[in-house]
Amino acid sequence: MIKPELTDYKRPEKLSEYPQATCYKAGHLVTKNSGWRSKRPVVNTDKCVGCFRCYMYCPDGVIFKKDGKVDIDYDFCKGCGICVKTCPITAIQMEDE
Ligand code: SF4
Ligand code: SF4
Repeated sequence: MIKPELTDYKRPEKLSEYPQATCYKAGHLVTKNSGWRSKRPVVNTDKCVGCFRCYMYCPDGVIFKKDGKVDIDYDFCKGCGICVKTCPITAIQMEDE
């Protein structure tokens, strides 16, 4: 059965219409998982061009839009490094915790 709130869903047609973060409305991120992460992704905001590719590919939805670029919620980032692999201009690097 379709939940009532999903009937209002409008498919985004432009990146600007996507929510601030892919888990923005879910509200289910309650267990912080950063404790076992050994490396963290760090965004070079001087280099980032705001293509939001990393935002689209992060499996945990913890990359969010900020000032036309991206930032990362380290409380929930698991350090998988997928964002680093998907950035076309290497604007994200993994750094030791
Ligand atoms: S390291 Fe993984 S979980 Fe963390 S922001 Fe990048 S893709 Fe998302
Ligand atoms: S993929 Fe790279 S350039 Fe694109 S928004 Fe993410 S960090 Fe910025």
